[in-house]
Amino acid sequence: TRRVAIVGCGQLAQMMAREGRPLGIEFSFVAEHGESTGCVEGLGEIVHAEAFDSAEALYQALGNPEVITAEREQVQVPLLRELEQFCPVFPRPDALADTQHRLREKQALVESGIPVAPFLPANSYEEICRAIESLGYPAFIKSCENGYDGKNQWRVDNPEQLGSLSEVIKPDAYVVEKGVNFIREISLIGARSRSGEVKIYPLAENHHQDGTLLLSLAPAAAASDETMRAAESYLTKLLNDWDYVGALAMECFATDEGLLVNELAPRVHNSGHWTLGGAATSQFENHVRAILDLPLGSTSADRPTAMINLLGVDVVPDAVKQSATNITLYGKTLKPRRKMGHMLLQSEDMAKLRDAAQKAIDLIYQTA
Ligand code: ATP
Ligand code: MG
Ligand code: MG
Repeated sequence: TRRVAIVGCGQLAQMMAREGRPLGIEFSFVAEHGESTGCVEGLGEIVHAEAFDSAEALYQALGNPEVITAEREQVQVPLLRELEQFCPVFPRPDALADTQHRLREKQALVESGIPVAPFLPANSYEEICRAIESLGYPAFIKSCENGYDGKNQWRVDNPEQLGSLSEVIKPDAYVVEKGVNFIREISLIGARSRSGEVKIYPLAENHHQDGTLLLSLAPAAAASDETMRAAESYLTKLLNDWDYVGALAMECFATDEGLLVNELAPRVHNSGHWTLGGAATSQFENHVRAILDLPLGSTSADRPTAMINLLGVDVVPDAVKQSATNITLYGKTLKPRRKMGHMLLQSEDMAKLRDAAQKAIDLIYQTA
């Protein structure tokens, strides 16, 4: 049997394993710094990284996998580099090192000729103030490392707001970005296999709440052909320039002047959960196929799908349940705003789907 080890034990690892096991692939999981492992229990061996004093011992405890992958951005790259002595690691640790640091990621995007919002690096509150003087308001201050779901970042609309952060922002590496007046946020996910086959999913349109993804709609109906083509060409260029292997997600702002790339995620992505039932092959299965060099599956979608995140809720009202085509609960302990699961709605018609998704959100979050 073929075995894949995944670094990380969250819901993305869970869905990769659930999608990979029907292909006859076995999984094992690396837990880092005492992370909770509830999502992957029962799906394969779970190994705690700190229990081993050598990478070789860890590799053996994982059952000598033929390939290792990661489910999240903030993985210990040095650990992956050590494990690379024993089997290939995809995406490659170099790609992970670039995408886990916002400044390096932006520089890599610029090097590939991909448009991004104007930005400046800054290492202190004073440098941030100078950067905003030159970029203007609104601006986004983002720490280079350890930011996700809008954490470790601040939007500032005026000097007063900036002033109120003088004690909050500690010396560290930041990227200051000009605020983009976007029409909508979209994302694109593709996979590239070891032999260079590339498959790209239709665009998704994304809606956030307090910096966290709440709703994705795909295929993004409103996207023009030009937007589609630009997004596909950027993602294909990155996949090939980096000789990238696995799933790569690209978050973009659609503006009146065209597309700007916001950030990348070197993995399967929350805005691609709609593919689990909404596309011929899920992003999770295609990621597994890509890293094992199996032929990639079709990424086509035959009707619109809405993915609603269940944030800090793990029950879906009956009225919503009836119309859902899929409800996936990750089996995590309930915490406010935590991603507990997601659900899918489908319709033949994007306008109807949009309405249905809004109604479902109102019911789930009782804001109607
Ligand atoms: P994720 O959970 O997607 O990894 P993150 O913490 O890495 O999030 P970003 O994706 O950079 O953060 O930003 C979160 C959200 O904040 C974006 O989806 C967008 O809505 C808004 N945002 C970020 N940067 C800008 C910008 N330059 N202009 C306008 N809005 C922005
Ligand atoms: Mg991010
Ligand atoms: Mg983001």
